[in-house]
Amino acid sequence: MPESEYEVELFRKQGFTRQTCGKCGKAFWSLGHHETCGEAPCQEYDFIGSPPFKKKLTYRAMREDFLSFLEQNGHARVKRYPIVARWRDDVFFVQASVYPFQPWVISRQASPPANPLAISQPCVRFIDIDNVGKTGQHFTLFEMMAHHAFNFPDHPIYWKDHTVELCQLFLTERLGVDPAIVRYKESWWEGGGNSGPCLEVVFGGAEAATLVFMQNRDVNGHRVPMDTTVVDTGYGLERLTWLSQGTTSAYEAVFGDALAYLKRATGAKRVDDRVLRETRSAS
Ligand SMILES: [Zn+2]
Repeated sequence: MPESEYEVELFRKQGFTRQTCGKCGKAFWSLGHHETCGEAPCQEYDFIGSPPFKKKLTYRAMREDFLSFLEQNGHARVKRYPIVARWRDDVFFVQASVYPFQPWVISRQASPPANPLAISQPCVRFIDIDNVGKTGQHFTLFEMMAHHAFNFPDHPIYWKDHTVELCQLFLTERLGVDPAIVRYKESWWEGGGNSGPCLEVVFGGAEAATLVFMQNRDVNGHRVPMDTTVVDTGYGLERLTWLSQGTTSAYEAVFGDALAYLKRATGAKRVDDRVLRETRSAS
């Protein structure tokens, strides 16, 4: 992809520089200077025991923080959609926050419930299920938090600049992440017959969000520009909750109360964190 696909006004204004990962060679943008792109396996998790956020948030508080931040920034909060994608004939289940709006909103046969909008959408990915319990970070069900903007030809909302600005503001001002550690990794996204450039938002060794700029559709193997472009973001609710707590596994961050109960009920008073850490990193 040409570098210009990833030129964002905020990067220029705030002095982000384009750097290259010394291990995988991928390009990324950051205010700080880094040897690697920051994502495993190029960099190990470094947030366990030292979370990069100013406060520890529960699952519920993180969801509320995200949605209320976007409401304060001109987005309407919309309710979650069912996990069974009964409005689509190409998939059975919702795997991402944009699924509720495909294909009818993007093809303009239906209006979006609000524009721009904020949502926290339950999703299932069956490909994850074998990893549940083993990796310490996969779930049978997860919530993808998102802000979406549908840029209709006669009614554009916002595109790359404001999308990155909202993400950077949420992470640094709302959650208190050091702006220098955040990296925006250049990548390319494809799904459901659509494609476009994307920025993977990485810090602490983990990918916390992806900002997709859906701008092409596939017609007989050719990329054709879409009339309606879509800001398709995805912020992992469980991942962000885990980053904020820096616990040994994501399960302790997300299911803290349930785990405390199970430990009491089973008499498992002492859990060796070292064993948990080693099990997680071995997977
Ligand atoms: Zn890398």
